[in-house]
Amino acid sequence: MNDYALVLNAGSSSLKFCVFQRPQQEGWRLAARGQIEGIGTAPRLSAKDDGGKSLADERLDAGSVRDGRAAVDVLAAWLRARYGGARVLGVGHRVVHGGARFTSPTVVSRQLLAELAELIPLAPLHQPYNLAAIEAVFERLPDVPQVACFDTSFHRGQPAVAEVLPLPLDLRQHGLQRYGFHGLSYEYIASVLPSVAPEMAGGRVIVAHLGSGASLCALKEGRSVDSTLGFTALDGLCMGTRPGTLDPGVVLYLFQSLNLSPKDVEALLYKKSGLLGISGISNDMRDLLYRSEPEARLAVEYFVYRAAREIGALAAVLGGVDGLVFTAGIGENSAEIRRRICMASGWLGVELDAEENVGHGPRISTRQSRVSVWVIPTNEELMIARHTGTLLGLR
Ligand code: ADP
Repeated sequence: MNDYALVLNAGSSSLKFCVFQRPQQEGWRLAARGQIEGIGTAPRLSAKDDGGKSLADERLDAGSVRDGRAAVDVLAAWLRARYGGARVLGVGHRVVHGGARFTSPTVVSRQLLAELAELIPLAPLHQPYNLAAIEAVFERLPDVPQVACFDTSFHRGQPAVAEVLPLPLDLRQHGLQRYGFHGLSYEYIASVLPSVAPEMAGGRVIVAHLGSGASLCALKEGRSVDSTLGFTALDGLCMGTRPGTLDPGVVLYLFQSLNLSPKDVEALLYKKSGLLGISGISNDMRDLLYRSEPEARLAVEYFVYRAAREIGALAAVLGGVDGLVFTAGIGENSAEIRRRICMASGWLGVELDAEENVGHGPRISTRQSRVSVWVIPTNEELMIARHTGTLLGLR
């Protein structure tokens, strides 16, 4: 095994990782992709190689893997055992929030960590865990350089009108603006469009990142000009457990009339709404699509309705649409959801090729469709590896 770069995506109960081998002529090569999930409850380590062959699948001791730091220890031990003589050239982290200041990936320092910690209230469910992983690597591998790659950076450079929140200036000076997220996913898609779909790569494209978190991004000539996520990751589309766009008066009502506490409202908005809230059954689109209960149907209908509605809004922003791209868990795997969203977007000139759609494309529109529609698997980890390599001079 050659020297390698490690990519980490640390969440509240999971630590996802990828091992990329030192770049060769053809770029980074994925050696392993895995995760430690169930941190604090029923921890488990699993990993596969690039071809899908299992490299690890084991239950871990719940008593000793109570938090993210302990998970980093488990991962470090696994990496040592597996890639013994090889050096870790650098660690790239997914960091959800870079605020207004960090418009590109940045080499991590103690000072940077302190600045990123100030953004925790803006992404309470992600940022603390992202930073804890950086801290844990700092402690254990102080000589290994680390790079923070932000989910917000790709959207910086949007026109002021797309970023502004219509609130008084003194409040906006506290960082209240629209940031947008899933930026690493959109950046990856924008980077492959010229080779996958050259005829529309330089045009007006809407990318639909539909996973358990979901958003849309409007690309003009490969750059983000607007997106549906805003100040936090709660805005825009209906998500697995987050509501998407919600009248702020609802939040006032929850506080003032139903006397919910800030913690209750936070849990409601981040963990109990969206598909789960509407259906009362599941946050997983796979489950809901096969259920006959009216609430499950309404949840799926609302998901599609909201996506189609926001596609219309971004089409207005772009002044028309040349291409539509589906990506992430639902976007890549659910032909049914793609079909429904495309049907609802027919007025824009979207014409679906039913057979290609069932086969997951990559091109799923008919030849005569005015909008060309694609399924392109995202690869946020590769984007992080590329940034890490560039910033650390590994290539
Ligand atoms: P995230 O990275 O935001 O956790 P993913 O992009 O991995 O999410 O997407 C996960 C979601 O994708 C799951 O919750 C599930 O609802 C959905 N999904 C995956 N496969 C399918 C499928 N075949 N049909 C419908 N939904 C699917």
